Amino acid sequence: MTRPSLLDAIAAAQAALPAESRRSLRIARPIGGARVVIEGRELIDVASNDYLGLAFDPGVRAALADAARDQAGARASHLLGGHHPEHAALEAELAAWLGYPRVLLFSTGYMAAIGALSALLSRFDLALQDRLNHACLLDGARLAGAKLRRYAHGDVSAAAAALGREPDRRALLITDSVFSMDGDIAPLCELAELARAENAPLMVDEAHAIGVLGPQGRGACAAAGLRAEHVPVLMLTFGKAFGVSGAAIACSAAIADALLHGARSFIYTTALPPAIAAAIRAAMRRIIAGDDLRAHLADRIAQFRAGATELGLPLLPSTTAIQPFMLGDSRAALDASRRLAERGVYCPAIRPPTVPHGQARLRLSLSAALCESDVEQLLAALAATLKTDIRGP
Ligand SMILES: *Cc1c(COP(=O)(O)O)cnc(C)c1O
Repeated sequence: MTRPSLLDAIAAAQAALPAESRRSLRIARPIGGARVVIEGRELIDVASNDYLGLAFDPGVRAALADAARDQAGARASHLLGGHHPEHAALEAELAAWLGYPRVLLFSTGYMAAIGALSALLSRFDLALQDRLNHACLLDGARLAGAKLRRYAHGDVSAAAAALGREPDRRALLITDSVFSMDGDIAPLCELAELARAENAPLMVDEAHAIGVLGPQGRGACAAAGLRAEHVPVLMLTFGKAFGVSGAAIACSAAIADALLHGARSFIYTTALPPAIAAAIRAAMRRIIAGDDLRAHLADRIAQFRAGATELGLPLLPSTTAIQPFMLGDSRAALDASRRLAERGVYCPAIRPPTVPHGQARLRLSLSAALCESDVEQLLAALAATLKTDIRGP
């Protein structure tokens, strides 16, 4: 037998991985109040995306527990008997809240992105994306076999030039609203204007903005005054500020039907447990009434940025809960993360390929669950561990 061994090749590739590229699982037990227990130590948690602390909200947890008393799993896909009244109620409430004709639920944001893009695009179409879009949006365009083009981060004229080079090709313009690793916000109004001028509909991923930004937490597009007519495909996730799990696409009836018939990650998978849908609805209600939480988060962000500036820590131009510090190479980021843990803060290093090469960083995500003294402690820990090796933005 001369066939080379697949299993040997896999093992050899892993053995050859340098230490700074190695990833491993760590057991992290969150206990609420922006605290996480790791290896028996209680740390301040600036790693989660639970921006409003809703994963520990009593109302959200009670909604989950109450609905789970009736039924555990959904038992089937949406199209084959798994579409429960809880799913339908959630979709209707989301549609009304966001001002879209239809909303379709997906099990995760990753599945929403690959399902939507593979259903809406063919190999003849252009998928034009910001260079820093989330991996799921890039993967969705690849799965569709579409012509994937990426423009320089936040650069509307580069996007316009890319569309200008392909005037005869159907196109979808795709962007994150809040960028997951940098925390900045896409130029949504300018992109919407370009989308209109070029007849290239705009799809926006609101994973890090829904619940946090805009009136009633309706997201960055709503904050920018954009509606369904400007953003025909709006993607939401419920694992971040909602504190639960799952995702949705808000869109027109025609697009929803296209997803229902073409999004394989919707068709060929079990629906979310109905109790999860109930918990998402409870979280939505808390978010709608959540100006208090958003104001508290805004205070912590302002406190953090003012304190970091005073300490001479080089901030990136992010006004959101995501506050990264560039370290450069992976080893420096890992080392900084380790020293921060020694000082009581959990903030894992973000390394390539999650971020571009040479841009390893600490990504702090602030939360309304942090109190004023937590942020003081966080700043002190950062100042002590990072001042010498942080690079400018
Ligand atoms: C987290 C994230 C997703 C994926 O959402 P999940 O529900 O966690 O699969 C999609 N897009 C962006 C921008 C994200 O940050």
